[in-house]
Amino acid sequence: MKKNNFYKKKKHKMVISTIVAALLIVSTGLGIKNFFFNKQEKNKVVQASVEEEKSKESNNKDNKKHDDYSIDRNDVANMLNGKYPKDGKKYVFLTFDDGPNAQTTEDILNILKEKDVKATFFVLGSNIEKSDKMKSLIKREIEDGHAIGNHSYSHKYDLLYPKGKVDIKYFMEEIDKTNEVLKSVLGEDFETKVIRMPGGHLSRHKDPNINELDKELEVNKITNIDWNCVNGDAEGKPYTEEQMLENVKKSSKNTNKAIVLMHDAPGKKKTRDILSKVIDYFKEQGYEFKTIK
Ligand SMILES: [Zn+2]
Repeated sequence: MKKNNFYKKKKHKMVISTIVAALLIVSTGLGIKNFFFNKQEKNKVVQASVEEEKSKESNNKDNKKHDDYSIDRNDVANMLNGKYPKDGKKYVFLTFDDGPNAQTTEDILNILKEKDVKATFFVLGSNIEKSDKMKSLIKREIEDGHAIGNHSYSHKYDLLYPKGKVDIKYFMEEIDKTNEVLKSVLGEDFETKVIRMPGGHLSRHKDPNINELDKELEVNKITNIDWNCVNGDAEGKPYTEEQMLENVKKSSKNTNKAIVLMHDAPGKKKTRDILSKVIDYFKEQGYEFKTIK
C-alpha cells in the first residue's frame, strides 16, 4: 500500500511536470513567434518610413533640380542684351517655336527625355486646340519638366502686324487667348509671362509701334525672349543636316549663354533629326541646359 502510494505520488508528479513542460514549450514557442512577428512588423514600419523619407528626398531633389535649371525670364532677357553679369557659366536654352504638331513634337520630347535635358516650348494656341493629341503633348511638356512660353494664337503676321505695325490691342488679345487655352488644358494655376513674338522682337526694330508694345508688355510683367543661336531651320534654305549642325556651332561660338531658336513644326523634320547631335555638342562643350520661367 505504502509502495503503491509512493508510485501514485511519483506518477502524479510526472504528469504535473509533463504538463508544466508542455505549457512551457507552448508559451516559449508563442513568445518566439511573437518576437519574430513583432520584429517583422517593426521592420515593415521601419522600411515604410525609410521609403517615405526616400520619396521625400527625391521630391525635394526634383524641386531642387527644377530650381536648378529654370532661370527667370528677365535674367534670360539680360543675357541676350548683354546686361547679365559675366559669371563665366555656360548655359544653353533649347527653344522650340510654333508647336505642338503631330509630326515632330512627340519625337522631340522623347529625345529630350532620353538625353535627360530640359527645353522651352513657345506654343501656338491655335495648334493646341487642333486635337486632344495636341493637348496631351502640352501636358507632357509640363510633366517632363519643360517650360512653356506663349508664341501668340494664330502666328499670322497680317493680323498681328498689319501694314508692318504691331496692332497692340490685337496682339495682346492673342496672347490672352493662348493663355486661356493653356489654362483650359493645364489647369487654372498655370501661368506663363514668357513670350516670343512671331518673327522675333529684333526683326521689328523699324516698327513704329514697338516701343508702345514694350510698355504694354512691361505693365503686364510679360517678357519677350528672342535668340542668339540658330540651326537655320527658319531660313527656308535647303540646309543639309551637317550644315544645320555647323550653324549651331558657329552661332553659339562666341557666347556662353546660348538661346537656340528651333521649331517643332511639321516642315522642320531635320531639326528633330539633328537634335541628339545638337544636345551632344552642347554637353561636350560643358553647357548646362536651362529653361526660361
Ligand atoms: Zn514662330
